Amino acid sequence: MLLARDHGHNVTIIAKHMPGDYDIEYASPWAGANSLPVGKPNSTQQTYETVTWRELERLARDHPETGIHFQNNFIYRREKDANSPIGDWFRELVREDAWFKDVLPNFRILPKNELPPGMDGGTNFTTVCINTALYLPWLASQCLKHGAKIRRGVVQHVADAADLHHSGKRADLVVNATGLSSLKLGGVEDTTMYPARGQITIVRNDPGIMASTSGTDDGGDEALYIMHRAAGGGTVLGGCLQVGNWESQVDPNLATRIMKRAVALCPQLVPEGAGIEALDIVRHGVGLRPMRKDGIRVEREVIKGPDGKSVPVVHNYGHAGYGYQTAYGCSEAVVKLVDAALQTKAKL
Ligand SMILES: Cc1cc2nc3c(=O)[nH]c(=O)nc-3n(C[C@H](O)[C@H](O)[C@H](O)COP(=O)(O)OP(=O)(O)OC[C@H]3O[C@@H](n4cnc5c(N)ncnc54)[C@H](O)[C@@H]3O)c2cc1C
Repeated sequence: MLLARDHGHNVTIIAKHMPGDYDIEYASPWAGANSLPVGKPNSTQQTYETVTWRELERLARDHPETGIHFQNNFIYRREKDANSPIGDWFRELVREDAWFKDVLPNFRILPKNELPPGMDGGTNFTTVCINTALYLPWLASQCLKHGAKIRRGVVQHVADAADLHHSGKRADLVVNATGLSSLKLGGVEDTTMYPARGQITIVRNDPGIMASTSGTDDGGDEALYIMHRAAGGGTVLGGCLQVGNWESQVDPNLATRIMKRAVALCPQLVPEGAGIEALDIVRHGVGLRPMRKDGIRVEREVIKGPDGKSVPVVHNYGHAGYGYQTAYGCSEAVVKLVDAALQTKAKL
């Protein structure tokens, strides 16, 4: 979007899946989605998350049509989760001296008398929840508004995308944002990519808060998070982080555990004394987080296609479980690489 809106580039977007599709090869619709920073202090990811927060905050404040709203968020920590897969993922998030305490508003450490049973610590701050069913079409519309053309297409080799520009001419540059498919996409084949399966249940019940814990007693890769989406998007109950698991189908036993854990942490989800039978289910879902061993890849290279022709490519993939909360930071970095690559090309 930034390439077309702020930099006047003539953009064609080619994608196998579009907003409105629900498919295991398309992670974005399945996300909660929220902004809970997990990058290490002084890392590139910290910069991405900080830059992105500013924009998400602006959109939540000034643009309700994006489907983003503010949420009162609670993070709960248990000592025993410190070395579990979820504990590892949430390492920076659960810190009482978190680097983002001066970035996200209203950060405070929870006193003991505000902790649910079994929790050793916790924090409370304001963040956002994004209704992806509204936000993804809004993004597509913004691209159209600023002159980009959107087409369905399946690309076998990344360099082939250069021949799919709507002008009919060969594109000067390709941006590769194919998520987990960068594992198999010709010319990329990044074997450090792998899935981390996430399963969710969306319900009509409203908990009134957003909450996550550092782990559960149901296994180190099972998570507990609750977030209420804006504008009638329902409440997302999660979840899990099943590394290397490609299964696209809902596990009904896991769905039951997800709902039980959510009601136990947040009894106000259901009428007093009721159990999970009082949850009004919209749907269950499964998405695959596009994990990458060394984190997000925003990088530029020149790739030769099967036809022997080369094209500059700027990569933007490997956003794991933080694609929304890093999106604008990554996009800014992509724009810089694109402009630099096109300037270099113009001088040749
Ligand atoms: C359950 C779950 C919860 C999550 N919660 C959050 C959260 O709360 N906050 C957060 O920030 N992130 C969250 N995430 C992570 C976030 O959803 C991802 O990081 C993000 O959606 C990745 O976006 P992407 O565009 O890189 O990949 P995708 O959304 O998978 O999109 C890839 C696109 O590339 C297209 N494509 C791929 N290969 C080809 C090809 N060969 N030819 C043409 N098109 C192709 C696809 O069709 C698709 O349009 C969550 C993820 C899951 C699964």
